[in-house]
Amino acid sequence: MSETIVITDPDSDRYHTFGYISWWQQEVVRDATVLVVGAGALGNEVLKNLALMGIGRLIIADFDTIEDSNLSRSVLFRASDRGRRKVNAAAERVKELNPDVQVMTWHGDINFEMGLGVFRHVDAIIGCLDNREARLSINRFSWAIGKPWVDGAIQELMGIVRVFWPGRGACYECTLTDLDYQIIGLRYSCPLLARQNILQGKVPTTPTSAAIVAGFQTQEALKLIHGMEVQPGKAIMINGLTNDIYTTEYPVKEMCMSHSRLEPIVELPDAAGATITLADMLAMARETLGEEAVLEFDGELVVAMHCSNCGERAAVFQRMARLYESAADCPACGTKRDMDMTHRINGDEDFLERTLAEVDFPPLGILRARNGDKRIYYELTGDKQSFLNYV
Ligand SMILES: [Zn+2]
Ligand SMILES: [Zn+2]
Repeated sequence: MSETIVITDPDSDRYHTFGYISWWQQEVVRDATVLVVGAGALGNEVLKNLALMGIGRLIIADFDTIEDSNLSRSVLFRASDRGRRKVNAAAERVKELNPDVQVMTWHGDINFEMGLGVFRHVDAIIGCLDNREARLSINRFSWAIGKPWVDGAIQELMGIVRVFWPGRGACYECTLTDLDYQIIGLRYSCPLLARQNILQGKVPTTPTSAAIVAGFQTQEALKLIHGMEVQPGKAIMINGLTNDIYTTEYPVKEMCMSHSRLEPIVELPDAAGATITLADMLAMARETLGEEAVLEFDGELVVAMHCSNCGERAAVFQRMARLYESAADCPACGTKRDMDMTHRINGDEDFLERTLAEVDFPPLGILRARNGDKRIYYELTGDKQSFLNYV
């Protein structure tokens, strides 16, 4: 393989040095979009690296705010950032490091709140997470849309880096043991509104292990962007105490629950969540799949709540996964209200004129239409312009 080496002026080109690397293509890096999930210790380092390399567009996703204890491992945060959203401080510092980089911030819970289509419209996904639940979510999303992701994990001076690529070697869920499922299950033990618990979980980490693992993660993402070879389903194991670094390969699990691909995904370039209604979507589905077609959400949609004590009744139209337990309290008398919920739209609902946004469907979300075992997955591609809003 021979590539043209372009040597630029070091005084005017910040990427001058990369020009000496035979395979490095700055225009490929500049044209790439990377989704970084988690802006903690790993996320800070990954974002710093991507900014220095001149990545074109970054989506920074996190749900958290900055506290002083983050400052020992987060190169992008300052003491004055205390209380700010991590995504906002990180985006600001990325722009300082390199104004060429276009940044979009997303503050929310990756497990439930981001439209699946977002994952389709990026070139690499990097998980900078500290818990199994979010890794499992990203792994399932990655499988659903058929895109690789780069996982990193740190604890004290130990680190693991892994590329998971649907259909090519083991995925993250293939690596899970019964104990892992137990830990995940415990956190989900309250089926209703368990978000508060999921967002916890502190693992001791150091800025050195974060830098080392994030360095590897960024390199793997760089290879993915360049279409270079990676080793999906293998782990780079780093032991900073003994200085052992080795790779190990995971077996593929036969019955792995993540191995499920959404097919076919149909892009709807004119469908935006703010304007297209459930009735529109249902009509489209029936035209293709037949008159019995229904629309299906992945989780329950809480349509209304009503109080058996005082009779109070209110429309809700929010996904159950996004509601906190306190949302069930009756505002009039405090009793826990009963919920009307559904995950299927079959055409006899009295709210078909609601837009997708009005039933809490996320921007760039992917909605399942089904008739028996015939399925189509519709992406609200019309949201792309307004939602993927880089600055
Ligand atoms: Zn698997
Ligand atoms: Zn009441």
